[in-house]
Amino acid sequence: MEEDTKRCPYCGEEILATAKKCKHCGEWLDNSRIQACVIKKIADCQRISNIVWLIIAIIQICSIICIIAGVWNIIAVCSSWKLPKKILRQDNDIPSYYEGIAGLIVIAIVNFLLGGLIGVILVCFDFYIRGLVLDNRQIFNKGSV
Ligand SMILES: [Zn+2]
Repeated sequence: MEEDTKRCPYCGEEILATAKKCKHCGEWLDNSRIQACVIKKIADCQRISNIVWLIIAIIQICSIICIIAGVWNIIAVCSSWKLPKKILRQDNDIPSYYEGIAGLIVIAIVNFLLGGLIGVILVCFDFYIRGLVLDNRQIFNKGSV
């Protein structure tokens, strides 16, 4: 009866499936090194995710400020609804109604869309991290703090 063999993941030589150490290259086969790589990868991904979520949170807070500006602009539009009559009357406060309103609305829309799109992509990234963790759940066996 021939014993089961496998390839050493480090040197590629054939070794016993039950081997604890490769007889060709001397590497230990207890998965600790592979696990260390996976753990580092997951930790790095989660760190990236945290940083990008922080950036998005800041963008979204800015977006909320822009939305408030947009609401303010709608109120401004309502108040300027009577402008045509004022123009016909040639009131001297007319120029002040044309300063900066359209620009604020554009900024509000752009910030809202930007935060939303990056957020969707980042949720996908977080699902990827979740998959990494769940696929390697046996690694996380050191207990909790
Ligand atoms: Zn080997």
